[in-house]
Amino acid sequence: MADMSFALTDEQKALKAAVYELCKQYPPQYWRDLDTRREYPDAFVTELTKAGYLAVLIPHEYGGAGLGIMEAALILEEINRSGGNAGACHAQMYIMGTVLRHGSDAQKRQYLPKLATGELRLQAFGVTEPNAGSDTTKLQTTAVRRGDRYVVNGQKMFISRVLQSDLMLLLARTTPVDQLKRKTDGLSVFLVDIRSLKGLEVRPLRMMMNHSTNALFFDNMEIPADSLVGQEGKGFSYILDGMNAERILVASDSLGDARWFIEKAVAYASQRVIFGKPIGANQGVQFPIARAHMAVEAADLMRTKAARLFDASIPCGAEANMAKYLASEAALQAGDACIDCHGGYGFAEEYDIERKFRESRLYRAAPINNNLIMAFVGEHVLGMPRSY
Ligand SMILES: Cc1cc2nc3c(=O)[nH]c(=O)nc-3n(C[C@H](O)[C@H](O)[C@H](O)COP(=O)(O)OP(=O)(O)OC[C@H]3O[C@@H](n4cnc5c(N)ncnc54)[C@H](O)[C@@H]3O)c2cc1C
Repeated sequence: MADMSFALTDEQKALKAAVYELCKQYPPQYWRDLDTRREYPDAFVTELTKAGYLAVLIPHEYGGAGLGIMEAALILEEINRSGGNAGACHAQMYIMGTVLRHGSDAQKRQYLPKLATGELRLQAFGVTEPNAGSDTTKLQTTAVRRGDRYVVNGQKMFISRVLQSDLMLLLARTTPVDQLKRKTDGLSVFLVDIRSLKGLEVRPLRMMMNHSTNALFFDNMEIPADSLVGQEGKGFSYILDGMNAERILVASDSLGDARWFIEKAVAYASQRVIFGKPIGANQGVQFPIARAHMAVEAADLMRTKAARLFDASIPCGAEANMAKYLASEAALQAGDACIDCHGGYGFAEEYDIERKFRESRLYRAAPINNNLIMAFVGEHVLGMPRSY
C-alpha cells in the first residue's frame, strides 16, 4: 500500500523552503516587467535549473535528483506561491516523462544529462492543431519516412516556449486515418532538436498572459529518423501515459496561485481600515476568503493523494484529473476573493493581482479544458455514457 499520510516529510519541507528562498530573489516587479514586455523569465529559469530543481524527476544515473512527482509538484507550487509563474518551465518536468518511459537508451544518454545541467532545454510540447483542438486523434500534421529521415508538414497552434527551447516533443501522424483500425493509432512522438531547423516557422502569439506561445508551420521540415521516440504509431498512448503527471503538476501551479491570492487577501483585509475598522472584520469580505481557503485545502488533499499514488506506481487517473479541476477552480475562487477585497487596487497592475488572475485563468482551459475533465469523471469514474 502507498503511504497515504498527507504530511510532508522534513526533506519535502526543506525543499519547499529552499525553493521559496530562491524565488524571493525574483520579486513581483521582475515578473510584472516581463509580463508587460511579454518576455521569458530567462534569468529565473537558468537559476532554477542550476540549482537542480528542474531535474528532480531525472534519475541519478543521468545527473538528476531522482525524486518523485510530489517533490516536482512542491517546487512548482512554491514558485507560484511566491508570486512567480511556473508556466515558464513546468513543461520540462512532464515532457521528460515520455522520454524516460519510452525513449531509447541512446536518446536518454544523449539528452537527459544535458537537460539536468541546463545545457539543453526541453520546454516545448507540440500537440494542439487548429483543426483538432481537444480531439488529439484528429491531428493532421504528417511525418513521412524517407530513408534516414522523416519529412514533417502541417501546422500546430498554441505551442509554448518554442523560441526558448532547444528540443521539442512533437506528436505527428505517421499513418493516414483511412488506413487505421483504431483511431488512437497512427500518431508518433518525436524528440526534435529545433535549433536552426529548416522548414520550421514560428509565429509568436500575444496571449492574455505571458506564456511565450506560438503558431508553428512545418514546410517539408526534415528530422533524423532516430528522433522517433519508442514505436511508430504508438504516440497517442505515450502522450496519454504522461497525462497524470501533467495534471498533478498543473494542479500544483494552481495551488501556488491560490495560496498567493489568499495570503495577499488576508494581509490586505487585516490592515485596510474603512468605516473605522479593518475590512476583514466584515463577513462580506472575510467569508469569500475563508470559503476559497477551504476549496484550496480540499484541492491540495486531492493533489497530494494523486501524487502519492503516482509515486507508488498505482493508477491515479481519477485523482490526477480531479486535482487539476479542483485546484484550477480554487485558484479562480481565491483570485476573485482577492480582487474583491482589494477594491479598486485589485485591478491596479502594481498590486500584481490582475496579472496573477490572468495567469491562473489559463488552467481552467489548458493543458486540458475542465469540461473534458468532467467528461472523464462522468464516463470513466462514474460509468455514465460517453458524451463525445
Ligand atoms: C496560453 C496557452 C498555452 C498553450 N500551450 C500549449 C502547448 O505548449 N502545447 C500544446 O500542444 N497545446 C498548448 N495549448 C493548447 C491547449 O492545450 C488547447 O487550447 C486545448 O487543448 C483545447 O484546444 P482548443 O483551444 O482548440 O479548444 P477546442 O477543442 O476547440 O474546445 C473549445 C471549447 O469547447 C469545449 N469542448 C470541446 N469538446 C467538448 C465536449 N465533447 N464536451 C464539452 N466541451 C467540449 C472545450 O472544453 C472548450 O471549452 C495552449 C493553450 C493556451 C491558451
